[in-house]
This record gives sequence, C-alpha cells and structure tokens, in this order.
Amino acid sequence: MNTLDEIIKMAQLTAALEGMCYQYGGWANGGLVCNGMSDLEYAFGILGWTEPHPVPSIRCDEPGCKKQRVCGWPSDKGYRNTCSEHHK
Ligand SMILES: [Zn+2]
Repeated sequence: MNTLDEIIKMAQLTAALEGMCYQYGGWANGGLVCNGMSDLEYAFGILGWTEPHPVPSIRCDEPGCKKQRVCGWPSDKGYRNTCSEHHK
C-alpha cells in the first residue's frame, strides 16, 4: 500500500468514526456526548474530541439556544432549523 492509499484509508476510517459518533452519540450542552457508552468514548478519544463535542452545523438556529436541531420549517425570516422548543 502506498502513502496515498494509506492517507485515503485513514480519511475513510476517520469519516466512519465521526459518522458513528454523530449517529449514536447523545446531545447535551450544545454538542455530542457519549452517554457513557465505552465504544463512543474510545472513538471520541481517537478523534481527539472532548465532551460535549461542539457541532454548530446541527445546533438550533435560535440565538443562544444550545439544543440540537430536530426540524426545519419556513419562517418570515427564511428557512429555519430549530429544536422542538423553538419550532414556530
Ligand atoms: Zn432551540
């Protein structure tokens, strides 16, 4: 395996770990958390993440809100992605 193949493989493994963390991690204080699941804690460690791992791209649009966005809806100000509390 040459260096380029190794780099590609490492990027794929990193993307797979991140994907598992996004899919199975919980949400608290504005970011992803492991909820005590040891495999997620191991993955967080490999990725160099701490809890909560901030993920602004899936945080509620409402300024100051740290909850995870769970719905999208059209508003007077444009399309918004918010938590259930700030939905309409
Ligand atoms: Zn919110």
